[in-house]
Amino acid sequence: MPLIKAAVCHTFGAPFTIEQIDLRAPTGEEVEVTLAACAICHSDISYADGIWGGSLPAVYGHEAAGTVTATGPGAKGVAVGDRVVVTLIRSCGTCPSCATARPTNCETPYDGDHGPIKTAQGGKLHQAMACGGFAEKVVVDASQVVPLPDGISMEAASLLACGVITGIGAVVNAAQVRPGQDVVVIGAGGVGLNAIQGAVIAGARRIVAVDMEPSKLDVARDFGATDAVLASTDAPWRDAKAAMGRGADAVLVTVGVAGVYDQAPRYLAKGGNIVMVGMPGSGQHSTYEAANFAAAGQGMIGSKMGDVVIKRDIPWMVDLYLQGRLKLDELISGRWSLDQINDAIEDTRTGAAKRNVIVF
Ligand SMILES: [Zn+2]
Ligand SMILES: [Zn+2]
Repeated sequence: MPLIKAAVCHTFGAPFTIEQIDLRAPTGEEVEVTLAACAICHSDISYADGIWGGSLPAVYGHEAAGTVTATGPGAKGVAVGDRVVVTLIRSCGTCPSCATARPTNCETPYDGDHGPIKTAQGGKLHQAMACGGFAEKVVVDASQVVPLPDGISMEAASLLACGVITGIGAVVNAAQVRPGQDVVVIGAGGVGLNAIQGAVIAGARRIVAVDMEPSKLDVARDFGATDAVLASTDAPWRDAKAAMGRGADAVLVTVGVAGVYDQAPRYLAKGGNIVMVGMPGSGQHSTYEAANFAAAGQGMIGSKMGDVVIKRDIPWMVDLYLQGRLKLDELISGRWSLDQINDAIEDTRTGAAKRNVIVF
C-alpha cells in the first residue's frame, strides 16, 4: 500500500496532524503529481475553520505545482515527467457549463469522500476541493493540470492555481474591463493584488486599492494601483471617487465580509458592475437598494476562480511572467516545510497579504 505524508484535518478549528495516508494509483483520466510546492490560500483556512462545512477528516490544499509521475490510461495532453500546475478546477468537458467555456461552473459533481486517498488504516479521507495538495503527492483529473515551460519555479507556478487566476480572471473574464475604464479593488490581499495586476493588463485608467491596512496599500501600489484609499475612514467611497473623478466601471470585492458587500455599490459609476469574488461564511447576507441597480443600469456578477479556462488562461499568464510583466515571486512571503504547516497557517491568518508556500 503506497503511503505518503500529508497534513490531515480531523476537527474543524484544530491544528492539522502530519500523518501517513494511502494514495491509490491514477485510473481513467487521472494523473499522479509529485508535488514540489503548495501555497496556503485563505479558502483552506476557511474550510479548516469549518465556516463552509464539509466532510472530515480531510486533506486541504489546492494551489500546487509538481511533476507528473504516473498517468491513467485515458489522461490526455499530459505525460510523465511534465512539470505542471495543479488546480482545483475539475471539468468534465461535456456538461452545459463546460460546453460554453465556463468550466469553473462544471455541473458534474465530484465526490471527494470517495476519491484517491484513504487513511493509513483504510478509512474514509476527504480529498478537499478535488485536490488535497497538503500532501507529498496528489492524484487528480487531467482536466485540473496545465503543463509548464522551463523558466518558472514550482513555487511561483503554484500561485497560478488559485489566487492569481482568481484575481486576474475576475477583471479580464468576469468584468471584461476595457482600456481606459476605472477599477476599484476592495481588499489588497492575495486575490486583490492580482485583481490589481489584472486591471493593469486590461489597460485600466485608474486602479484604486481600498484596504484597512496602510502597509497593504503600499504593496498595492507596487502591484500597479494608481491610487490607494484607507477603508477605515467614514466614507472611503468618497475618496475613491475623488481619485477617479467619477464612480468605478468595475468594483472588485475580494474580501469575504458581508458588510463590505453592503458598501460596494457606493463606489459604482452608472453602468458599472460589482464583481463578487470574496466569499463570506455560509448564511451571511448583504442588503441593497434594488431600485438603484435598475435606475443606474448597474450589475452584480459572481465570479468563481476568475471564470478561467485554465488551458487557455494559465499559459498566457506564465508567458507574461517570463516577460517580466506579471509579478509572482513578489507574492511569496514565506517558505515552509509540510511539518511546519500549522505555523505557516497561523502566519497567514495573522499576517500580511502575501502567500506562504509549503515546499516539499
Ligand atoms: Zn484558493
Ligand atoms: Zn462539466
